[in-house]
Amino acid sequence: MEQELRVRFAPSPTGPFHIGGARSALFNWLLARKEGGKLILRIEDTDLERSTRESEENIKASLRWLGLEWDEGIDVGGEYGPYRQTERLDLYRQYTDKLLTSGHAYYCYCSEAELDADRQEQMNQGETPRYTGRCRNLSQADCDRFSADGRKPTVRFRVPENQQIVFKDLVRDTVSFDSNGVGDFVVVKSDGIPVYNYAVVLDDALMKITHVIRAEEHLSNTPRQILIYQALGLPLPQFGHISLILGKDRTKMSKRHGATSVEQYKKLGYLPEGIVNFLALLGWAPPGEQEIFSAAELIEQFSMERVAKNPAVFDVDKLNYINAHYIKQADPALITELALPHLQESGYIKEQLTPEKKEWLIKVVAELQGYISYAAQITDHIDVFINDDFDFESEEAHEIMKDTDVPQVIEVFKARLAALDPVEPAAVQAILKGITKELKLGGKKVYMPVRIAITGKMHGPELINLIPLIGKERTLARIASLLAKV
Ligand code: GLU
Repeated sequence: MEQELRVRFAPSPTGPFHIGGARSALFNWLLARKEGGKLILRIEDTDLERSTRESEENIKASLRWLGLEWDEGIDVGGEYGPYRQTERLDLYRQYTDKLLTSGHAYYCYCSEAELDADRQEQMNQGETPRYTGRCRNLSQADCDRFSADGRKPTVRFRVPENQQIVFKDLVRDTVSFDSNGVGDFVVVKSDGIPVYNYAVVLDDALMKITHVIRAEEHLSNTPRQILIYQALGLPLPQFGHISLILGKDRTKMSKRHGATSVEQYKKLGYLPEGIVNFLALLGWAPPGEQEIFSAAELIEQFSMERVAKNPAVFDVDKLNYINAHYIKQADPALITELALPHLQESGYIKEQLTPEKKEWLIKVVAELQGYISYAAQITDHIDVFINDDFDFESEEAHEIMKDTDVPQVIEVFKARLAALDPVEPAAVQAILKGITKELKLGGKKVYMPVRIAITGKMHGPELINLIPLIGKERTLARIASLLAKV
């Protein structure tokens, strides 16, 4: 029977969930769903100082929001738990004993100061710093003496000399490292906590992970990890290192490039479907020209063969283009919900929303959905629906209102609107059409002055929808106050 594909996403809960992490999670999720395999979520919290439960919660919430559910792991459980590294320390200890007994690892009593001095010395000589091997061959008596001095040892992995570490990466093809460049490295710190490079191997092996798909920044960790697999006689998974994400200026993605955490995008009112669609294209090239993909389509088309080696560029304009597609299709009530905190923050909505006002707001949002990329942008367009106190947006708009036909157009429009009840789009349409016919004017000669009279602007949302939403009284009042300014 063919082995079941098992992939994992193994974040360190040390800060807000980065968009790059979400991309790694997504690729693993797509692979698992495509192959009918399992996705495991493991929390790598061995950096005790920087790991927080808050960050772990944020990662889980972000994954769930994106729809990237996992099959095993933290919260959901499974056969190979616990799934938080700090709860697996006993397990790691057993393997450390094995490594020590077989001589693949040794206790190192070097102090930070000694290691620093070595490093400095090597750098002064123009060498790449690596462990000198001072504790490589300590006798039991040496160890006892250091212990008696109160020194607490780390456990260091003994890197074999003159060995080529070669593996076939699913993205990068054959990768090889010279073991002489690696240097004996710490696997367990003096406080008994294993380092990432060690715990990750034990977990991936014990959790029967078949494919390790992760960010390129871990490529240089892979030779160390492979040496540990070999020392313990554990089967190697396949590795696939997906490329870095760069900003548009081709430097590493950072805060300077705008929002970097999933939560920030969520707060701005991006939709999970849009983010997932966009992230899938960050490093994966679909076989055809298609750009808009549902999750189901992504699962169907995704393959590691089409994951690119070269860096992916995070293009916010493309994200906005893709997200706009999903915004357009979304339920206006949802977009309203997402826009609401921004409308409150910018002062457009001050009081508690009554059910009537909410219903009105949803209709307004429905009108604006086609103009925005994410919900917060509603604040850039809503003024025309809310603010009755405005001026001409430009001299050009003002000039148009001085045309000879304009007074008549506006007079007729006012009279007809005043007589209209209820004010509905079709009826408004009929009024405007009627005026063009009766006064024998082109559409623009009618629609433009009416629009300017009502908004001060030459462009904006559909007039026939705008007017019913502003309502008869406010529309007439707006016209009166703007005409006074002509
Ligand atoms: N905890 C590591 C990180 O967040 C995971 C690396 C890996 O996937 O092996 O970068």
